[in-house]
Amino acid sequence: MNETKMNVKKLITSALLISLTLATTVHATAIKQTKGDFEDKFRQLDEVLPTPNVYRNAAGEPGENYWQQRVDYKIKVSLDEEKRRITGHEEITYHNNSPYRLKYLWVQLDQNIFKEDSIANTANNFGGIGRRGPYTKAGDKKTPAKISLGELRRQQFMADNELGYEIRAVKDDSGDKLNFTIVGTQMRIDLPKPIKPNKSIDFTIDFAFNIAEEDAVSARSGYEHFPKDDRAGGNDIFLLAQWFPRLHAYTDYEAWTNKEFLGRGEFTLEFGNYEVEINVPADHIVSATGKLTNSKDVLTKTQRKRLKQAKTAKRPVFIVTEAEALENESAGTSKRKTWKFTANNVRDFAWASSRKFMWDAKGYKQDSDKMPHVMAMSFYPKEGGDLWKKYSTESVVHTMEVYSRFSFDYPYPTSQSVNGPVGGMEYPMITFNGPRTKLQDDGSRTYSQAEKRFLIGVVIHEVGHIYFPMVVNSDERQWTWMDEGLNSFLDGIAGREWDPTIPWGVEPRDIIGYMKSEQQVPIMTQSDSVLRLGPNAYTKPAAALNILREVILGRELFDFAFKEYSQRWMFKRPTPSDFFRTMEEASGVDLDWFWRGWFYSTDHVDISIDKVYQMRLDTHNPDVDFARLRDIEQNKPSSLFVERNKALKKELWVDRNKDITDFYDDNDRFTVTNKERNTYNKLLKDMEPWERDVLARAVEEDNNYYVLEFSNLGGLVMPILLELTYTDGTTEAQYIPAEIWRRTPKNVRKLIVTEKNKELAAVTVDPGWETADVDVENNHYPRRIIPTRVEAFKKKKRKGKVHRDIMQDIKTKLKEDKEEPAETKDKGQ
Ligand SMILES: [Zn+2]
Repeated sequence: MNETKMNVKKLITSALLISLTLATTVHATAIKQTKGDFEDKFRQLDEVLPTPNVYRNAAGEPGENYWQQRVDYKIKVSLDEEKRRITGHEEITYHNNSPYRLKYLWVQLDQNIFKEDSIANTANNFGGIGRRGPYTKAGDKKTPAKISLGELRRQQFMADNELGYEIRAVKDDSGDKLNFTIVGTQMRIDLPKPIKPNKSIDFTIDFAFNIAEEDAVSARSGYEHFPKDDRAGGNDIFLLAQWFPRLHAYTDYEAWTNKEFLGRGEFTLEFGNYEVEINVPADHIVSATGKLTNSKDVLTKTQRKRLKQAKTAKRPVFIVTEAEALENESAGTSKRKTWKFTANNVRDFAWASSRKFMWDAKGYKQDSDKMPHVMAMSFYPKEGGDLWKKYSTESVVHTMEVYSRFSFDYPYPTSQSVNGPVGGMEYPMITFNGPRTKLQDDGSRTYSQAEKRFLIGVVIHEVGHIYFPMVVNSDERQWTWMDEGLNSFLDGIAGREWDPTIPWGVEPRDIIGYMKSEQQVPIMTQSDSVLRLGPNAYTKPAAALNILREVILGRELFDFAFKEYSQRWMFKRPTPSDFFRTMEEASGVDLDWFWRGWFYSTDHVDISIDKVYQMRLDTHNPDVDFARLRDIEQNKPSSLFVERNKALKKELWVDRNKDITDFYDDNDRFTVTNKERNTYNKLLKDMEPWERDVLARAVEEDNNYYVLEFSNLGGLVMPILLELTYTDGTTEAQYIPAEIWRRTPKNVRKLIVTEKNKELAAVTVDPGWETADVDVENNHYPRRIIPTRVEAFKKKKRKGKVHRDIMQDIKTKLKEDKEEPAETKDKGQ
């Protein structure tokens, strides 16, 4: 740059500054930032995400050399109802699609979690957070520690029953024994020679185990006993999951994902094809992952006819009616039947069996060449009552309608909801759902509004899991949020499309209590280490995605990107970085700040509007500007001292001595001199023509210049949603993108210019509660009075042993009436 150019530039800069000088009455406080406390909230995520490679590329897609293993199973399993025991034989074909030679295979033995010496059992923290089901509470000085009766029941059940796998044999395809080593819930099988890339190996496992009682151990499967059914000894519902030894996943990002099963972190699994033969008492009805292939052997002609009718029915048709189920449940038989199922391209297999089941079904048609027709079905005992008859299968269909719109066509032939003791759990094509009706004295069955909401909600949620993670096969053992968070986000959409008056728990306002709490870890925490699983892995990611869709990207961009993610990773194994990258890549929006804030930190949203300044443009004409300044001066409140003296009619010195006043007594400090007028005229003369025009126009328009000052108290950077209310009663919405915080993440100022007559009366940040801002009171300028409650209370009676009147109490008679125990118990988990 040469000297002339530099001078010109200097001139322009200074001229520009002059024309923008604002005559402020108050000066906005400077944004403080020292070099020590600066944090770049917009730092790119590349330093945190894994380096893109040929398996997973930088776009978040499967890379050109993407691979995943495949495992096919042929299983024969038999249920011993009396002993509540499973005996099985499985033939496994392991396809090594990886570029590596494998000397051994790792198998998951989830049933071993119930062994006395399992890590899950021995590493349980008393009073700690984290186990599914029964719990304990630590005490303090005032309150004793607590152990729930449920926890005692669990301990008693574990002491009385031998649980965990009995691995009877592991053999290769010629019947020779293979060496194996059991390590907790895992088993290593040593191969005589390594499996080469693109080769496969066949082997068999013989196994057996005693089924756990679900209500005692609170697993994700097990049996439930109904002692009061007509049949002698009662009846059971059996829900079987994590029931066969299945391969650990072997992946490009972690090799063997052999992490001990501790109960919380769910499953990391491979896809494959299944043929399963389930041998049960002949009067049982079986529901399973897959399609029933021998209906002729297990269903009556009438039942098969009904199944056909159900395909095109408007409302669910009973395949097994209530009357038939009641007859099964009271009669009993010693005969047995084998139900055969096939399931292709699934990552797991679960099933349910009971003579208590009635069964209804309804076809779901979709615009898909591969799977134009899906059977939605429900299996439930009489305890399900009208609640199940009316809502279960309909909820299954509604879920497929909504989820398919956001991802892909439902890819399997069946979609099932089974009632049982597990509150809610998902497997390919089959889900377990808990809520029931309650038997009343008059023989009717009723349910609460909460149970109705629970049923619809849990069916939508669990069937939703058939998409995530059963098809979009994320690694649940590592990242709970990838299936629970995405699924909760979508179940919130399906739920609100069903009935938005039911609280679905995914609105931004539903997460603020958790967001401001101390007990938190980032969403990106390994599943078994997550504190407060519900808000961390379900609500927070769901609310975050809600905000991303409704506030930041808008529905069009979000839906396009989300669908792209779903379809890219359908029947494949995405990791968090694949999700983050795809959402950015497909939406075209840099979201690194969003993932960093919501997924990698425990910051919360709390944006405060601190001050609003109204300013007028300085005209530089001393005759105008000085008069304005005089106005401001004269509008200031006068001194109390002066006012009181005036009231007392105290005469001032200057009034008493008028003969010695001078120029300054008649002219104040805002008096304009010709010297100042000359300076103004010179300023105008020195200006470039365009500068003069700009200033002249600005002076003529005499707009309002408002500076809004915001502070970020929560740490999480977010867009600022503004509602501006004017003195004429009109309102206007303004959206300030999150990028306003990129250089000063703690404080920012925003200039808003309005026409002369359009004056601001009030400013509200996030008026619709769309950003999970934890303190809405500092969102108002000016501040408002906060409505809240106060309650009068009575002093509590003293309770200690010494405060009892034992002399009197001991005279009270002993009551001995025995109450009948209730028939149904509350199942809500
Ligand atoms: Zn879930």
